[in-house]
Amino acid sequence: MNAERWIGALLFLPVPLVLVLFVRASLGLGLSLGLGVAVMASHRSYARPWVIARAAKRCLWCGANSAVERVAVSDPLGAAAWSACPLHATPLLAFVGWAERRAALLKAGILGSLLVLLAVGVAVVAGALPSERYSDAVALFQGSVALSVLPLSLFGPGCPAPTHARSPLPLHIQALVGSLTVVWLFRVVGVVWLVQAVRHVLGS
Ligand SMILES: [Zn+2]
Repeated sequence: MNAERWIGALLFLPVPLVLVLFVRASLGLGLSLGLGVAVMASHRSYARPWVIARAAKRCLWCGANSAVERVAVSDPLGAAAWSACPLHATPLLAFVGWAERRAALLKAGILGSLLVLLAVGVAVVAGALPSERYSDAVALFQGSVALSVLPLSLFGPGCPAPTHARSPLPLHIQALVGSLTVVWLFRVVGVVWLVQAVRHVLGS
């Protein structure tokens, strides 16, 4: 791996860190949520400029420094010179296009369940809800995210590719490690989280 891949992976680390803080709350619920929100809120300020500065030469699909083709994808945070290797423009457009066509479902499944998780967490910290409700909210979050990212990662890359697509979610996060890596993380973490959510519902 070249240095840029290592730096991209390093800049990606806050994402799983935030998820671990929210799901496990190992530092105590109040501190875990506070730290998680702070890491999440500050991530864009340093991760996005790093990615945008390299968007024209770094493949948004595989993360290699060999991109030669501009790809007409965008996200809610503004335009960038996103690009891909010649062979990777198609799966990238297919993946982002699949997400665009299901934008409302993805936002509800990922961002909506995250808001519910944080709201329940604050209510538990404030003493308005018993602590078991946070476990329920974690299971709901894991199940909702799994049901959102599993279909996207399984069916998105191979579906027919549009000529342009707008991602409902910020592209800089997947650009840090390459979208293909995120696809595999979605598949693996999606299965694990779905199993954990079902086990919680079944009480085992
Ligand atoms: Zn590539």
